[in-house]
Amino acid sequence: MAAPAIEVTPDLDLYRLATDSWPLHYIVCDEVQFYTKAQCEDLARIVDDLDVDVFAFGLLTDFRGELFDGTKRMLELADEHSPLQVEARCWCGARATHNARVVNGGVVYEGDTVMVGDTRDSDAQPLFGDSVRYELLCRNHFRTGDLGT
Ligand SMILES: [Zn+2]
Repeated sequence: MAAPAIEVTPDLDLYRLATDSWPLHYIVCDEVQFYTKAQCEDLARIVDDLDVDVFAFGLLTDFRGELFDGTKRMLELADEHSPLQVEARCWCGARATHNARVVNGGVVYEGDTVMVGDTRDSDAQPLFGDSVRYELLCRNHFRTGDLGT
């Protein structure tokens, strides 16, 4: 099964999109951590008023270890939530719970919530002079900034 994706920009009215796309049986939303609070509330309204199932996927916390705004609202509104069955692992083998931002080889805890980085390998492309990448770590190694060797 396949369907074209619709880019969700902050000004997109999801409830209107749903009614304009009628008939609709379910909606799959990705990267909901970046959705606005109003868009998360639109999704709840779509479930309640239109009887449409919404499946939303996204990250829990940002590079600081704090809930994204969209994630926070989704957790408040969702009927159910569960971690993905494929658990990510830290380099130490523990469950990876934090998505660390690594700038020039070191874990950073301050900065813009959204910064594009390379998640594929450790030799990230420099971005505005800095090398930015993301690495999944357990809470302990996120806290201590220990990236292993
Ligand atoms: Zn670890």
